[in-house]
Amino acid sequence: MKLKDIKGVINRGEFIVESIENPHDDYYTVKIKIDAGLTWVPGEHEIFTLPSKKIEGRKYRLFSIASIPEKGFILVGTRTRKEISSFKQALLTMKPNEKVALRGPFGWLKIQDETSPIVMSGVGITPIRALLKQVEINTNRPIELVYSSSGYYLFGEEIEAIAMNNPMIQLHKMASRKETAVKLDGVAEQYGNAAYYYNSGVTAIMRSVKKQYMEKGIKKNRIISDIFLGAK
Ligand SMILES: Cc1cc2nc3c(=O)[nH]c(=O)nc-3n(C[C@H](O)[C@H](O)[C@H](O)COP(=O)(O)OP(=O)(O)OC[C@H]3O[C@@H](n4cnc5c(N)ncnc54)[C@H](O)[C@@H]3O)c2cc1C
Repeated sequence: MKLKDIKGVINRGEFIVESIENPHDDYYTVKIKIDAGLTWVPGEHEIFTLPSKKIEGRKYRLFSIASIPEKGFILVGTRTRKEISSFKQALLTMKPNEKVALRGPFGWLKIQDETSPIVMSGVGITPIRALLKQVEINTNRPIELVYSSSGYYLFGEEIEAIAMNNPMIQLHKMASRKETAVKLDGVAEQYGNAAYYYNSGVTAIMRSVKKQYMEKGIKKNRIISDIFLGAK
């Protein structure tokens, strides 16, 4: 990211790890305590470094913030896949009270207005969770969440509960690319350019989702994508 692209207040500092959880297989969540000086808009991400650790290879990773600032902590979700990188090995074995360094926030995946219907989709559920937490209360517009996973749904139970409690929020859990593509065509037909389409995930999937929406007549400026560059 070029510095000239950065708008708003950029903070940097070291923050304490509160807890690390491993809810399933190679899925992890990391909770970090924050102080009053650090804030962000739901959907943004931070650049993480680990100053007290020796890391082989790339010394930083970007992680979307899955929580909202009102909660007083940063929540991150990640996977290690089969071979854990030196960075994630160091991060995910940290003990409570060890420190991570953060720089940010950065990002463009932000709720665009207060009235348009919202369609969210992605395998990159972390920033989507933050957007959902932002809009779950007092929503009077339709929200469609198309959540794709080939197995485990990180934050799945919590998201299901949010959807159960709010008739305006529809959760569609998808288990294959084909099923997801059919659902995305359906929501594009239903809402057209009245909605904003928020998407998050790896480059190839984000490109194909955008292409699919545009083939359905959705304008570029209604499609907001967060690309997890570097994710496997
Ligand atoms: C805006 C944004 C938000 C993100 N949010 C999340 C998140 O919430 N959760 C999450 O798990 N990940 C997120 N990522 C990706 C994250 O930063 C890591 O790159 C990813 O998790 C892989 O890290 P790793 O240590 O497991 O693998 P790595 O060891 O870093 O390698 C992963 C793969 O990416 C390739 N690669 C390595 N460095 C780069 C690079 N600089 N650019 C392109 N390719 C590279 C490698 O060759 C390898 O194939 C986000 C990325 C971006 C840009």
